[in-house]
Amino acid sequence: MIRFRAVFPYLRCSCTRAFPSSWLCSCETFAQLHHRFSKRASHAARDSPAASAHLKNGNPDGTREVLDMSRCPDVRSVTKMIAGRLRNGRLGDALKLFDEMPARDSVCWNTMIKGCLDCGDLVTAEELFDEMPEPSVVSWTTMVDGFFRFGQVERAEKFFKQMPIRDLTAWNAMLHGYCENARVDDAVRLFEQIPSRNVISWTSMIGGLDQNGRCEEALVVFERMFKSGMVPNASTLTCALSACANALSFPLGVQIHGHVFKSGFCLSGFVCASLITFYANCKRIEKSTQVFNEVASRNVVICTALLTGYGSNGRHEDGLKIFSDMIRKSALPNQSSFVSALNSCCGLESLDRGKEVHASAVKLKLGCDVFVGNSLIVMYNKCGVIDDAVGVFKRLREKNIVTWNAIVCGCAHHGRGMWAMELFSKIIRGLVQPDEITLTGLLSSCNHSGMLQKGRCLFRYFSENTSIELKHEHYACMVDVLGRYGKLEEAEDLVRNMPLKANSIVWLALLSSCRMHSNIDLAERATNYILDLEPHCSAAYVLLSNLYASANRWSDVSRLRVTMRDRGIVKQLGSSWVTIKGQKHLFLSGDKSHPLSENIYWKLDWLKMKLKELGHVPDRRFSLHDVEDEQKEESLFYHSERLAVAFALISTVEGSTITVMKNLRICGDCHSVIKLIAKIVDREIVVRDSSRFHHFKSGICSCGDYW
Ligand code: ZN
Ligand code: ZN
Repeated sequence: MIRFRAVFPYLRCSCTRAFPSSWLCSCETFAQLHHRFSKRASHAARDSPAASAHLKNGNPDGTREVLDMSRCPDVRSVTKMIAGRLRNGRLGDALKLFDEMPARDSVCWNTMIKGCLDCGDLVTAEELFDEMPEPSVVSWTTMVDGFFRFGQVERAEKFFKQMPIRDLTAWNAMLHGYCENARVDDAVRLFEQIPSRNVISWTSMIGGLDQNGRCEEALVVFERMFKSGMVPNASTLTCALSACANALSFPLGVQIHGHVFKSGFCLSGFVCASLITFYANCKRIEKSTQVFNEVASRNVVICTALLTGYGSNGRHEDGLKIFSDMIRKSALPNQSSFVSALNSCCGLESLDRGKEVHASAVKLKLGCDVFVGNSLIVMYNKCGVIDDAVGVFKRLREKNIVTWNAIVCGCAHHGRGMWAMELFSKIIRGLVQPDEITLTGLLSSCNHSGMLQKGRCLFRYFSENTSIELKHEHYACMVDVLGRYGKLEEAEDLVRNMPLKANSIVWLALLSSCRMHSNIDLAERATNYILDLEPHCSAAYVLLSNLYASANRWSDVSRLRVTMRDRGIVKQLGSSWVTIKGQKHLFLSGDKSHPLSENIYWKLDWLKMKLKELGHVPDRRFSLHDVEDEQKEESLFYHSERLAVAFALISTVEGSTITVMKNLRICGDCHSVIKLIAKIVDREIVVRDSSRFHHFKSGICSCGDYW
């Protein structure tokens, strides 16, 4: 494509240089020129008192005079003007100025080429490069860098080969480009070929290896660099510390910390942030706090590093405190800070805190940012309000595959299977490529919504039409879809004929379906397979033992209990909890340790009476002790989730929604009882068990009794 350049009559000024008259035609350009030349004139004032006088008098008519008196715009100042427009993303204006220039030097060409690349216009950059009379090594390198930025590795390589002269910057651009495009092997090969290496080459190699998951190798290169006598700079230390953090290489990281201290790099924000992350990853969060406290000026990067570190060490409250400090003080949070803060809200399962963080994001105009949005969807989903997650999803203008996956998985957890299917059709109609997480989310949606046919179709679609490699978790999901629906034979066939060797997770999915459909024969077979693969799998023992108990095979139950005891396998205790006014209240089955225990049990007895009036008959199959029926009912009635619900009922405002979390799957009897309780007290009760959310309202559950 040939760009047409407007030809303007040129004005000539006293210094005999030409400039286009169009520069004086447009008011805007005129004003800018005036401003720029005023500045130039003020620089020249030492030489030209007359020009200075004109400017001081602020006489607009004097502008032309000033222009005439000062030296007219030379290539350097126009290049600066072009660079200014490019910085503001005004590519069109910059090109117009560039086209109108009577003469250009290589700096000007290179500025324009780089500007086009920065503005995302590779085609124009290439055109300019082709038109450039004598591209310099900088121009060639800029193009190499540009091709890499657009992922065109082969073209970058071709350009690099064609370069008449290659300086170290060009070699470094290649090295950096390979690393950025995940071509680490090529980067390593090139690194060994570089005629001489400077600190940038070493740093690119260390950072590149680390960012591509090869942190151990990055540390080897770092040690080589040290031995070669090259002195690391702040960027090198940042990269090396990041590699130590990823490789959990504590002793080396501590040594680097010593070097940072001695060499005075502790003033660099990035180095400090890497130190904080390093200690946090190595589970020495106290040291992270210490580094943080020693930093004189804390910027957003440093604060976010500690916020994230607290999150990964389970200290969510401390993390959120840092976040509030950031808002109060000048280090305003960025995307990453919001992502970490929202993760901490998920860790605390605190909807109130999540909403506060959301409000701050909106205030800072980050509410519609895709990364923050993705974390908001996950937070609302985990805190039990799928409608708010959907609200955030709809408001996001830019959506990536993480966004789609977050909402699909949310729909799965909340039993909105049909929504998930609708979303999937949008995904495949759009430009987004589904990935393995999408498939897991979709299959578990089918699973939680009892959509057998849809599950089968999806599984076939993904295995035949996409390049996604099916993993164990996908097979486990599919086994769950089939097994829960009662298609146990088909599920067993799938397990036996899958191309991968079935692991304990796949067999456990089958075993839990056997428990649901009381198929003891298949359950025993599945358990044998699981215990072969994982002899200490407590879940397998518990599932089989529960199955025996519901079939009244008490001798088998005690046999299993003895084996478990002999092998030192401990059954995970069921517990439920509610968070009220930021405080978590945890309950075990039959627990009487809570300070309000008396009121809780009184409430439960009152509910028991109401349930009887409604004709509820306890399902004794879910009581797992070999005791008389009456006692069984008693133990059933004090299951942990019921204690938590009763406590929430007496501690919250009438009419408000109650959210209870549970570590295991809710039992069938509790499920029917909580449905009725929701009706009796006329409130919505949300229970999140180990597999999904149940929204109980007016006597029904969102899962449609299929979970
Ligand atoms: Zn229960
Ligand atoms: Zn339910």
